[in-house]
Amino acid sequence: MDRKEIEQAVEKYLTQTGYERMALKAAMFDMDGVLFDSMKNHAKCWHETMAHFGLDLPEWEAYMHEGRTGAGTINIVSMRQRGYEATEEEIHNIYKYKSDLFNRCPKAERMPGAYELLVKVKASGVVPMVVTGSGQVTLLERLNRNFPDIFQAELMVTAFDVKYGKPNPEPYLMGMEKYRENRQCSQEGVEPNQFVVVENAPLGVQAGVAAGVFTIAVNTGPLPDEALLSQGANLLFHSMQEFCDEWENVYEVLKA
Ligand code: MG
Repeated sequence: MDRKEIEQAVEKYLTQTGYERMALKAAMFDMDGVLFDSMKNHAKCWHETMAHFGLDLPEWEAYMHEGRTGAGTINIVSMRQRGYEATEEEIHNIYKYKSDLFNRCPKAERMPGAYELLVKVKASGVVPMVVTGSGQVTLLERLNRNFPDIFQAELMVTAFDVKYGKPNPEPYLMGMEKYRENRQCSQEGVEPNQFVVVENAPLGVQAGVAAGVFTIAVNTGPLPDEALLSQGANLLFHSMQEFCDEWENVYEVLKA
């Protein structure tokens, strides 16, 4: 990606949002499919689970629903195939089956390039944050083990913090709020142009854009780039390694 492309993306963002300039302070990273290569397991387990219950959800389609609640995904498939929503009990059983399958999968590896990028981000003076819909209790411990000395617990947004989840902008708005509290900025002190969002999922991109934040898509899955660009992604990389290699250019433009 050349520098011009990044500059054009920023200019477009500024025109859309009415800001005069970017003032990057923190980067909000999604977790599944961005920091960890975990989406393959999720997609495979969703597909197998639905098949077990006589429902059809192709693996690629699971990527389209990434970020939705389990109940939300189950009901979309149920409505499409049967014409009615799943009962509470069905939702419970289907989601439990999927979670059990997922927990038997090998633990996902760190996404290649992710740690190296985070080290660069932090060294640039930009605060790395995690904003995820995941609610695993061992999340922080796992993040700290895989990404030592990068994240602060007070600057994490998880399933326990939010009511709606992505594609609602709530998780990213809450990330900004946590940053404000932590830095003790005045209310006026925190604005969307001080952040970037890093997302791999269409619904996650939608949430970042709806929060008014410059949203960088990283297409680490099987969907076409258009699935992310059509949701309003401001920039797109094809891997975390590519983003890592381009960080200096991105940072030069975003801090300017
Ligand atoms: Mg994700």
